[in-house]
Amino acid sequence: MQKNDIVTVTIEDIGVNGEGIGKINGYTLFIKDAVIGDVVEAKIMKAKKNYGYARLMNIIQPSLYRVEPQCQFAQKCGGCQIQEMSYEKQLEFKSHKVKENLERIGGFAPELLERVMEPIVGMDEPFYYRNKAQFPFGTDKAGEPVTGFYAGRTHDIIANTDCALGVPMNKEILELILEFMKKHGVLSYDEKTGRGLVRHVLIRYGFTTKEVMVCLVVNGKSIPYSEELVRELRKIEGMTSITMSVNTKQTNVIMGESYEILWGQGFITDYIGEIRYQISPLSFYQVNPIQTEKLYRLALEYADLQGDETVWDLYCGIGTISLFLAQKAKQVYGVEIVPQAIEDAKNNAKINGIENAEFYVGKAEEVLPGYYREYERENKGERGWADVIVVDPPRKGCEETLLETMVEMRLGKIVYVSCDSATLARDLRYLNEGGYEVERVRAVDQFPMTVHVETVVLLERKAP
Ligand code: SAH
Repeated sequence: MQKNDIVTVTIEDIGVNGEGIGKINGYTLFIKDAVIGDVVEAKIMKAKKNYGYARLMNIIQPSLYRVEPQCQFAQKCGGCQIQEMSYEKQLEFKSHKVKENLERIGGFAPELLERVMEPIVGMDEPFYYRNKAQFPFGTDKAGEPVTGFYAGRTHDIIANTDCALGVPMNKEILELILEFMKKHGVLSYDEKTGRGLVRHVLIRYGFTTKEVMVCLVVNGKSIPYSEELVRELRKIEGMTSITMSVNTKQTNVIMGESYEILWGQGFITDYIGEIRYQISPLSFYQVNPIQTEKLYRLALEYADLQGDETVWDLYCGIGTISLFLAQKAKQVYGVEIVPQAIEDAKNNAKINGIENAEFYVGKAEEVLPGYYREYERENKGERGWADVIVVDPPRKGCEETLLETMVEMRLGKIVYVSCDSATLARDLRYLNEGGYEVERVRAVDQFPMTVHVETVVLLERKAP
């Protein structure tokens, strides 16, 4: 197999990034945008000894799982990876990925997984689900400002204000800002030269409250004719917060360190279940509120709280899970590394009148072991100060020192919420060897059309 060879191949599998996988005489080819079941013509772009990467040239026979993409830029844009796969097949792919990782990396037996894995939780309407979007601004060949999305793995902007994952008013808002920029000759920021004003526009929408936030991220201290821009933006239904965030650094970081209010409030409000959240331009907030509610209800169900438990929520972010748990627990402790998120968590507890949740800034792998040692010293090893631990770590999973403490603590229950099933599997193996049994596993599709999948796992201690 050589570079530039054209081959015909049947796609038999799906790779971790959603790409199609086919084989020719034992030689494996990875082909982006090819769907499992397709027969395709592809051109070899890179040939290694046993495998290679090929570009999809022609679909000779489309797969039964192939669907018309909702968005015309589905292949070019870096945002979606599997929009051309039927949603049903996407869900199957994601469940399978979780199961495979638990088997291969976690070392769990297929029979056990058969018993503990529950069906993946999908969406009824898998488009237009994102409540947040950050659109980069650039300049087209004619010198006009454009906005859209980065093409996969690059910083080239594909002009498109109509993303199929975002809310419909994104388009209206972006078109209005582009018009305004053209009218007054306001330029987009240029990453290469560091010149130009408008870098990104952040739009957030409260699905339950219908409140809209717009934040312009700018390379400068002010926006010319900003009163006119505000006047126009205020015509958008639900507009609640118009802000500006100054970012004059030559960096990939999108937001500046602070923001100024141009009009209205500095935040919008939204609900997940009965809990109310105030979300500023800089706050972290889950992007798919519908699935987030299902995910956290599941975590709560797995924790099965009776009202007298002390619960720790590690990697708590703005306290979303903590406040959910606080409704059913005696006491909740949240731990999170970002101080601003802890400020938000405390504020969210306050505006909801929740008094049994306390939050600490720090690393989970330092705070929990530290607290545990302290407690052990003072209470001579008697337990009871932590009944359940919930963890929701970033993609790299938990540090071993944290897992070690959880093993030592001999907890009744651990609920593990994960956005990366490979590190989840690794951590479950450790906990399992330390005496915890995997009792329930359920994947939740937070990000339809992408390869990402969330998983909730319940672990319980083996009887002594
Ligand atoms: N459950 C949270 C989101 C969790 S995302 C919510 O719904 O808001 C993972 C979080 O872990 C992020 O907020 C990140 O800032 C935090 N984090 C990353 N490393 C950490 C560490 N070592 N200790 C504590 N928190 C950490």
